[in-house]
Amino acid sequence: MSDAPARPRQARYDVVVVGGGHNGLVAAAYLARAGLEVLVLEQLDHVGGAAVSAAAFPGRPTRLSRYSYLVSLMPDRLMAELDLDVRLASRTTASYTPVVRGGRHLGLLAERPEGPATRASFEEVTGGPADFEAWERFYADVAGLAAAVAPTLMEPLPTEQAVQEQVSAEVWRELVLEPLGLAIERRFADDVVRGVVATDALIGTFASLTSESLVQNRCFLYHLIGNGTGEWRVPIGGMGAVTDALARVAAGAGAELLTSARVARIHPGDDVSVVELDAASGGASVEARHVLSNVAPWVLRGLLGEEADPATKPEGSQLKINFLLDRLPRLRSGVDPEVAFAGTLHLNEGYQQLETAYAEAAAGRVPTELPGEVYCHSLTDPSILGDVPPGTHTLTYFGLHTPASLFEADPAGARSAAIGRAIAALDEHLLDPIGSVVARDERGDPCIEAKIPQDVEADLGMPGGHIFHGDLDWPWAPPRSRLDTPAQAWGVQTDHPGVLLCGSGSRRGGAVSGLGGHSAAMAVLASR
Ligand SMILES: Cc1cc2nc3c(=O)[nH]c(=O)nc-3n(C[C@H](O)[C@H](O)[C@H](O)COP(=O)(O)OP(=O)(O)OC[C@H]3O[C@@H](n4cnc5c(N)ncnc54)[C@H](O)[C@@H]3O)c2cc1C
Repeated sequence: MSDAPARPRQARYDVVVVGGGHNGLVAAAYLARAGLEVLVLEQLDHVGGAAVSAAAFPGRPTRLSRYSYLVSLMPDRLMAELDLDVRLASRTTASYTPVVRGGRHLGLLAERPEGPATRASFEEVTGGPADFEAWERFYADVAGLAAAVAPTLMEPLPTEQAVQEQVSAEVWRELVLEPLGLAIERRFADDVVRGVVATDALIGTFASLTSESLVQNRCFLYHLIGNGTGEWRVPIGGMGAVTDALARVAAGAGAELLTSARVARIHPGDDVSVVELDAASGGASVEARHVLSNVAPWVLRGLLGEEADPATKPEGSQLKINFLLDRLPRLRSGVDPEVAFAGTLHLNEGYQQLETAYAEAAAGRVPTELPGEVYCHSLTDPSILGDVPPGTHTLTYFGLHTPASLFEADPAGARSAAIGRAIAALDEHLLDPIGSVVARDERGDPCIEAKIPQDVEADLGMPGGHIFHGDLDWPWAPPRSRLDTPAQAWGVQTDHPGVLLCGSGSRRGGAVSGLGGHSAAMAVLASR
């Protein structure tokens, strides 16, 4: 067999997609189904980008969702339109937050749907009914905004005014105009409840809750609008099952998916653009009527030969750790581990802890009390485990406020400090410390895989390791936006009419939603 890189089958395509992340595959699937000739070029030897599963531990068959792990924003409509063979399962626990009050280990439980145990837990932790009632009112208001936004996500961008008109002035002010921290401080008294609400604003987003940039508000909105419910569901078979299904649909419709094909340059043109592969990928050039960029806007600028200003480079801020456990650890609060770990288990995510951690990280220090959250995929979906001894489980940790800059001066030291603090945060609430339950790989090493932002950049090309390719935008057209072209109307325009954004960095593209790919595909079809 020859080791020569595979070459594109044709010299010219209707559409070339640069990057085979899940959004690139969504675009390819829609466009190939519409009869266009589509080529997807992916630098790695597999497609999926950050939406993949991997057997991360030598000698262990379990296939973990290596980067992204839960799905909320992918519209059911998109999944139905593409006949995606993917099942998303609900988690019975939304969240569990272990706390120590008066020397006692307790926990704040939010079930899904919320039942009497949720109310009882709020009353025990907060000392009365007020915060649970505030919680119900707040999330009813958030649901009102989600109901206004969700149906627009697969349509051309709505104007800001069209969305605003559907909610009360108070809800708009609290969620869209003012820093989210103000609403949280106004509406909730208990620091732990405040923190649980606040974490959705900080996933992959480095900000104070009172930041005037409002980037935390935008992140919060993305975490609450998915399918109008904001429910985060578990992809059965792991995140790789989502990508595999998308790749099957795209290839089945005739799209050509070429892996180990790294794009070195894009030469944009009015009618035809040229895409060049690098020498190691065979160096071929292909022509395309439309080039769709599934890579981040910052990376795209480099491929277009434009000046890449280091000051505008996005910066990721998360720490992802995958664990394989011989068994779930018991908690000091006495809660059933199968309840506590089935949902999002919050650690060091009190409101004050979040603000202190942000301040420490902004000053260049790994936060002393590192905020983060863990969840066990295999409780909801044991299918990813493979042939393992009974009791084996996965555990996923997602840490906040660890910006890439913290790891620059002393990468090994800062990495080990961050991992140590993440494990310490968990151990504080466990009867069985993580070290006593973690599985071992075939070499006898603990099954722990950590990814700092630099790893995410090196693995996937996400600039700065930013999980959304850059800070999130509001999912609507701001006042005075130009919406004249299909690309502008769908929020996927670049400075070059022949090149469109098709990924997380497009206006509504952040997270595993397929919306970046859908919007790009719709803009192409509308421009024919
Ligand atoms: C650790 C982590 C956890 C996350 N958790 C979640 C979660 O639970 N839920 C959620 O919804 N979102 C999550 N996210 C965010 C989500 O995964 C991303 O926003 C989303 O996967 C981006 O998809 P994409 O298709 O736009 O781009 P990507 O997945 O970044 O794909 C882009 C592709 O382009 C390829 N590429 C780059 N440069 C070139 C080149 N020059 N030539 C050819 N190919 C190239 C890359 O290899 C990659 O395959 C997480 C992300 C990370 C990193």
